[in-house]
Amino acid sequence: MLQVPHGGPELPQRRNLVTEIPGPASRALFERRLGVVARGVSTTLPVFITAAGGGVLLDADGNSLIDFGAGIAVVSVGNAAPDVVSRVSAQVAQFTHTCFMVTPYEGYVEVCEQLARLTPGEYEKRSALFNSGAEAVENAVKIARHYTGRQAVVAFDHAYHGRTNLTMALTAKNMPYKQGFGPFAGEIYRVPMAYPLRWPDGPDACRAEALSVVKSLIHTQVGESNVAAVIIEPIQGEGGFIVPPDGFLRGLADFCADHGIVFIADEIQSGFCRTGDWFASSHEGVVPDLVTTAKGIAGGLPLAAVTGRAEIMDAVHPGGLGGTYGGNPVACAAALGAIETMESLDLSARARRIGDIMLPRLRKLAETYPVIADVRGRGAMVAVELTRPGTLEPDPASTAAVAGACHRAGLVVLTCGTFGNVLRFLPPLVIGEELLEEGLDILEDAFASL
Ligand SMILES: *Cc1c(COP(=O)(O)O)cnc(C)c1O
Repeated sequence: MLQVPHGGPELPQRRNLVTEIPGPASRALFERRLGVVARGVSTTLPVFITAAGGGVLLDADGNSLIDFGAGIAVVSVGNAAPDVVSRVSAQVAQFTHTCFMVTPYEGYVEVCEQLARLTPGEYEKRSALFNSGAEAVENAVKIARHYTGRQAVVAFDHAYHGRTNLTMALTAKNMPYKQGFGPFAGEIYRVPMAYPLRWPDGPDACRAEALSVVKSLIHTQVGESNVAAVIIEPIQGEGGFIVPPDGFLRGLADFCADHGIVFIADEIQSGFCRTGDWFASSHEGVVPDLVTTAKGIAGGLPLAAVTGRAEIMDAVHPGGLGGTYGGNPVACAAALGAIETMESLDLSARARRIGDIMLPRLRKLAETYPVIADVRGRGAMVAVELTRPGTLEPDPASTAAVAGACHRAGLVVLTCGTFGNVLRFLPPLVIGEELLEEGLDILEDAFASL
């Protein structure tokens, strides 16, 4: 048996391949998996992890890989972050569950205090805690409908909000998220996203036109007075790391305010320092009515939240919101440790620094390889979109080839995008700069080998 070191930041911060990727131990585990784990649960890179920390993942064969995925923007504070480990260890030895709705505990209240302090907006706030991002989105919609007495919900092209029934309806992409899983929830309306690269009349027209197109569609096809909520990811995640032009989110928020529509920012992927600020909405000073959070909130433990204006949140009667495990005490302890780490290490500044390193190198790469049609993102939420050179025709095959080459070289990268043609980079915010540069070197080699 392999001697497995503890994870966390003490793990040697270097890439080190001792077998091919995946190695024999991971391949054997994958065989076992095939016999018992449902096929519908997919795997990006079949290496089985035994320890992780900082910017590396250690696998069952003893390979040390560079992590540009952070478990999909979850372990922003790093795996097994010391403040998370110590608080979780203490909590787990104290008590593991009571159900906050039966007999409450302080950690839940403390997390809600932190959310009130950190989320955008100076108004009186309330929060409710859940287990997953999808559950937070479901509850944000429930709350908005209850508060407004309206039913319609407006979502965007390329949106991703989860895999439960209501959130599948909000999610835009059919394959793999929706195929064969209908019927979907009703009263969901979809409008175009301000997607500069793919706006029919080009990026400049996108800035000028997108907001009025959205407003006009809501007016003509739904009617403002029927709309409970508009939900949007300030930077879209699974849909392709799409960054709307400045002014779009603000205009949308103003439109919602003018018509009594609840403006929901889904910050599940973009929140908690990822884009160089606590929340991506803050970039333009946009103040949502409700914010959904999850992924980065608790250093890897399952926790999610809806936070928003007290009058909206408190419109729901007692017992109308909740769940057995929502705001589990161990997950709350983890969140408090993660938030402490984000503040003590100033991870927003680290995210901005990561963007300052990655974006220029990716732009340079785009000059050499015309398959890269766009470089975009903010802070440590960065992506490149691949097309057939000189066109907007998506190139998912090259995207998969580059990702595969990175994986074989020991760099974990993820793809995304409605057309499967976006490589996205979400390193843990505590990653060392040498490792970050080495990861970019591997990416460069991968493009060279296309
Ligand atoms: C991941 C994600 C969700 C869903 O979160 P789960 O925890 O997987 O249910 C919802 N919205 C956005 C923006 C996400 O990135």
